[in-house]
Amino acid sequence: MRVRRKSTSGVSTMATDYDIIVVGGGIAGSALAANMAQEGARTLVLEREERFRDRIRGEYVFPWGMAEAQSLGIVGALEAAGAHSVPSFEIVGMGPPRDLSQTTMQGVPSYGFYHPAAQEALVEHAETAGAEVNRGARVTSVLPGDEPAVRLRNGGDEATLRARLVVGADGRSSLCRKALGKEETHIHDGRLLAGVLLDNVKLEDEHMALVGLIPGTGAMTLVFPQGGGRARSYIADRGTSEDRLQGPGAFDRFVQIAASCGISPNIFENAEIAGPLGTFAADDSWVDHPYADGVALIGDAAGISDPTWGQGLSVGWRDVRVLRDQLCNSDDWDAAGHAYADVHDEYFGRIITAESWQQQMFLDSGPEADERRARALPLLAEDPTRGPDILFSGPDLPVNEEVRRRFFGEDQLEPA
Ligand SMILES: Cc1cc2nc3c(=O)[nH]c(=O)nc-3n(C[C@H](O)[C@H](O)[C@H](O)COP(=O)(O)OP(=O)(O)OC[C@H]3O[C@@H](n4cnc5c(N)ncnc54)[C@H](O)[C@@H]3O)c2cc1C
Repeated sequence: MRVRRKSTSGVSTMATDYDIIVVGGGIAGSALAANMAQEGARTLVLEREERFRDRIRGEYVFPWGMAEAQSLGIVGALEAAGAHSVPSFEIVGMGPPRDLSQTTMQGVPSYGFYHPAAQEALVEHAETAGAEVNRGARVTSVLPGDEPAVRLRNGGDEATLRARLVVGADGRSSLCRKALGKEETHIHDGRLLAGVLLDNVKLEDEHMALVGLIPGTGAMTLVFPQGGGRARSYIADRGTSEDRLQGPGAFDRFVQIAASCGISPNIFENAEIAGPLGTFAADDSWVDHPYADGVALIGDAAGISDPTWGQGLSVGWRDVRVLRDQLCNSDDWDAAGHAYADVHDEYFGRIITAESWQQQMFLDSGPEADERRARALPLLAEDPTRGPDILFSGPDLPVNEEVRRRFFGEDQLEPA
């Protein structure tokens, strides 16, 4: 595939400064920039950070996300930045560990990596592929239109640049999302996610992700190894802002909650805190149809799915692949943007639904949730294929009423 340009009608591409301006050099923006530059597009990445830092996020990629990464040609760059394969997945006390390379649709393991190193590697990869990268450049406004533009500031310099397409890959507080002026959907149910990076974690198997949870308590602990004794650990819990675990002083409480979820405190015995300890709202938020007037949104800018379920990186790379393919298959980039947005809504919607099922099954409390679990969990233990595998194998699996009823064991209920 090569990028096609309109020569006779429509947008005059040569009047623009670039084919694509990507706002944000995160994992989604850099992957898109690398791919589009490889296809011959004049590509600019604007990234406000001179140096990436630990933002407590985005380091465990499920198998379907790694398959997306493969299709984008970025696995080599991630491995060179220390990405570590994590083929096993164990929910403590709920049966033997699962071998993801054998049991997912893609037949590949999960991976863990240090997010700032991966971001750095992908920006470099984009540059090597031919994209121009402007670090320290903060986009201050986005102007949708036939020839969309961005205004930016870098140090004392200001500029306005035009492109055939502006791609908003500027993360959770996306300016590009706001510029589109679309209505946002926000789901906030008061759950929190606290995370910290640790060294000297004593894991029996550094290639196994651990999950500890006591269904119905609302609390869950996740341990994602990155190799060499390093792991990222998270605690998902219900809570108010006073319950936020914040700063190194909160680590003892972190270990206590982990233990209450069934994670042995021994693994944290000699652990050293290797980054900030902070807490985030475990919310979903998105806009429908993340394209309008020459501006496409990808990654978190398009849709944030509750980070408890670790789908953000995978969805971001799916966005990149779908948008790339639409842009490379058409010289009408407005139509390509709309086609991307249509497809995005379908798979993003399936992810949100699949996450809500997991939450209802494992985290929700109350009599209705207890009754659901009493019916469904024994059936699931007997026949794991009752569990929809969307979070591991991706949103191409069916997500419908029949799948939901089977997961919740409602297909075994006597007709009323
Ligand atoms: C606590 C937590 C844990 C998570 N854990 C996981 C996990 O285990 N697995 C998983 O798959 N996902 C996880 N996620 C989600 C994942 O981190 C995100 O989905 C992913 O990082 C989104 O990538 P992105 O490229 O869209 O945005 P980002 O990674 O946020 O990148 C956006 C980039 O844009 C830049 N930028 C922003 N505004 C501007 C501007 N105005 N001008 C120029 N540059 C700008 C930023 O500096 C940044 O580099 C987690 C999220 C959280 C909050």
